[in-house]
Amino acid sequence: MISIEQAISIVKKSTKPLDKSECISLKNGLGLTLAKDVVSPINMPPFRQSAMDGYAVNMHNSNQYSIIDEVKAGDAHQPTLQTGEAVRIFTGAPVPDTANAIIIQEHVSVNANFLTANKPIELNANIRSLGEQTKKGDIALKKGTKLTPAGIGFLTSLGITEVVVNKPLSIALIVTGNELATAGDSLQYGQIYESNAIMLSSALNDLGYMNVGITNVKDDYQSTYNVLQDAILNNDMVLVSGGISVGDYDFVGKALLEMCVEQLFYKVKQKPGKPLFFGKKDHTFVFALPGNPASALSCFYVYVNTALKRMSGNEHFELLKTTAKSLSNFVKKGDRAQFLKAIYNNDKVEILEGQNSSMIHTFALANALVYVPENLHEITVNDTVEVLLLPIN
Ligand code: AMP
Ligand code: MG
Repeated sequence: MISIEQAISIVKKSTKPLDKSECISLKNGLGLTLAKDVVSPINMPPFRQSAMDGYAVNMHNSNQYSIIDEVKAGDAHQPTLQTGEAVRIFTGAPVPDTANAIIIQEHVSVNANFLTANKPIELNANIRSLGEQTKKGDIALKKGTKLTPAGIGFLTSLGITEVVVNKPLSIALIVTGNELATAGDSLQYGQIYESNAIMLSSALNDLGYMNVGITNVKDDYQSTYNVLQDAILNNDMVLVSGGISVGDYDFVGKALLEMCVEQLFYKVKQKPGKPLFFGKKDHTFVFALPGNPASALSCFYVYVNTALKRMSGNEHFELLKTTAKSLSNFVKKGDRAQFLKAIYNNDKVEILEGQNSSMIHTFALANALVYVPENLHEITVNDTVEVLLLPIN
């Protein structure tokens, strides 16, 4: 059994960006990662631009100016200002080349075609210079950047409509278990509702992975083998839920071994999620997650998330970490390191009741995991603890 640190390090070392990119329409790029630097085709702003509503002036050493014209946003004309002249101007309008400052309208008194500046005017005040945000030929966003709403808006502001991104990962989700019923159907004695598929596919979608196929399989060796073999052949990542423990009806490990999936690790000294398997066959990675819902999701965020981000070329591939003062007491049983469902807010963290690996209710309330290392046995109110922030809103 290996430590959490060793397991994370193996995940990071064995995964790398897939060498598959494609040119797509920027409007479909949300959540995808740039496979190439994006170079700006224009200066932004593309002209000297007024940042305020007011008056553009050709400065002189009096505070009196004569107003000779007006330029509003979208106008293309260029009045010529002599020293001591001003034009009325509005936010976003092009600043005439002969103007060298803008005084905001709150700082002037206007009488007919004359204005008096009531405050000193500073050279270049309230003028956005040509290319102030991005210069033509500059790298606007670099390779490895995940496209966010702001990123898509920014590239569109440069007139860009297409980008080269890492091809979206193809992910198979295989759910094992004879006891699983479908929500909406009636529950027979001994059954529980299957919830890992929708939970994990929602977590994947939330992180921008939309290409996810789900297959259900009974606890039967041959069916498990067939489904796994097909999934490994046709996907970049295979996630299995359940069937990886040591019970007589847990067939996932045996099937993976039989089809020569290279085991990168099996079993991590952690709670929840001890029987976690990570392996590789050809170019496909496999995580077999314990079926207990809270274990599956905890392993998903700590390990699968990192692997997927690495494979999609995202440079920020680890959960954000911080420290916080604990609002709760906690006594750890056993010697495994533990991830505790928690609510983090404003440098404080509340460790929730109900940390059992089957209790997904607690996870539904959490926005963070408190990390309790192997050698820490107790947390007392006000102790500083390590916190991993979940990548949820
Ligand atoms: P397993 O890892 O297959 O031994 O399952 C461990 C526990 O998680 C058992 O109590 C299962 O009933 C439960 N479980 C397994 N798969 C799911 C699932 N897809 N949805 C909800 N609970 C599950
Ligand atoms: Mg099972």
